[in-house]
Amino acid sequence: MRAACERAIETGQILRLDPDTPVSPGSWDAALAAAGCGVAAVDAVLAGEYRAAFCVVRPPGHHATRDRAMGFCLFNSIALAARHALTRPGIERVLIVDWDVHHGNGTQDIFYEDPSVFFLSMHQHPLFPGTGPAHERGRGAGEGTTLNLPMPAGLAPQRYVDTLLDGLDDALDRFAPDLTLVSAGFDAGAEDPLGGFTLTEADFAALAHEVVERTRPTSRNRVVSFLEGGYNPDELGRNVVSHLKVLRDATA
Ligand SMILES: [Zn+2]
Repeated sequence: MRAACERAIETGQILRLDPDTPVSPGSWDAALAAAGCGVAAVDAVLAGEYRAAFCVVRPPGHHATRDRAMGFCLFNSIALAARHALTRPGIERVLIVDWDVHHGNGTQDIFYEDPSVFFLSMHQHPLFPGTGPAHERGRGAGEGTTLNLPMPAGLAPQRYVDTLLDGLDDALDRFAPDLTLVSAGFDAGAEDPLGGFTLTEADFAALAHEVVERTRPTSRNRVVSFLEGGYNPDELGRNVVSHLKVLRDATA
């Protein structure tokens, strides 16, 4: 991936790592900045500089595995942030909640055998990248710290909200996170051209609010959220503004 980015910089051209994942001359710096933003946000929240943080970054990250860029994603920014957080004093368990309409295959893959990171994902199935069946729940020491909630397209929005929040309760019954990270993919919105979920601004707001509330006993408002998908610019803009307000108010 680095070689392709360097070639893009040298030639000034856009190259493709795969049919979904182009890199331009600006991609390397953008991907480094996205990953670094997550690390900086974790540090700032853990230091008490910010109550919570939202990383408005591009490219997104949750499809990238340890060694492979894919699905618009170059580095897995949320996974790097989680790994970084686990090096900080007092942070032994990190919860990642992923409500992007696509399965966060890279994040699951990276932490599949790791009991210190709980990965909770609700995603449309079938849909790219085709991973994330309910029976995949982690392996070895990480058995039970992956929870997949594959859902069909086109249900009433409350079904998605209830499913994810029930999954969150299920996770929190077994796992007490010191820090909560969110893969906030707004391509689960009703007007998104790539996804078939039906969430509205109010639904995303309810999800963010409940994630902060329900993780508060152990995460103590320490929430760092990452922009993942979202491909209707008008809808994305509304949801991002709303998400920021919810993080601000819920952690006040
Ligand atoms: Zn997505």
